[in-house]
Amino acid sequence: DSTFNLTHHIRSIPDWPKKGVIFRDISSLLEDRLVFRKTIDLFVHRYFTTRIDAVVGIDARGFIIGAPLAYELNAGFIPVRKKGKLPGTTISESYSLEYGEAEVEIQTDWLKRGDRVILIDDLIATGGTMLAAASLLQQLGVEIVEAAAIIDLPDLGGSRKLKEAGITVHAFCE
Ligand code: IMP
Repeated sequence: DSTFNLTHHIRSIPDWPKKGVIFRDISSLLEDRLVFRKTIDLFVHRYFTTRIDAVVGIDARGFIIGAPLAYELNAGFIPVRKKGKLPGTTISESYSLEYGEAEVEIQTDWLKRGDRVILIDDLIATGGTMLAAASLLQQLGVEIVEAAAIIDLPDLGGSRKLKEAGITVHAFCE
């Protein structure tokens, strides 16, 4: 209903994974059958009338949202995984974290040049993860219709960086 407010269903855990960080935890949103359904429905309604060939979900919480979304849109699901999990021919992209580096990877077999995809994760913070995943899709010549998340943390600048890179971004709450 119109009073449904996602933010009320996201837990904030102070000092996790380290002191000074407030972790936004979607477990409380997934656990509640009605809230989970409403959250997936928000994504489904946003893209239902758009031609989408595949939903690309980012390891690991992007899978939880991306798979039911792909099912409802009658689209395929393709995972972007942390490096080293996918067999076969892949491309990977590294990006920097606050301390050190991370790397994401995708199989090259499935997406064709010109395919239209939605890129999904649970949350955009610095945008590093989403940008690296977007770069993989751009290398494959895929059209990113939108990069979407449940939550954006605007103070960390990730959604702004994505927009500056020419990627359309949407989050359902801040
Ligand atoms: P970014 O690369 O800095 O934008 O961080 C986003 C990635 O880290 C996403 O894959 C998120 O799942 C994860 N992440 C970062 N901060 C949080 C948080 O507060 N809650 C849940 N996930 C987070």
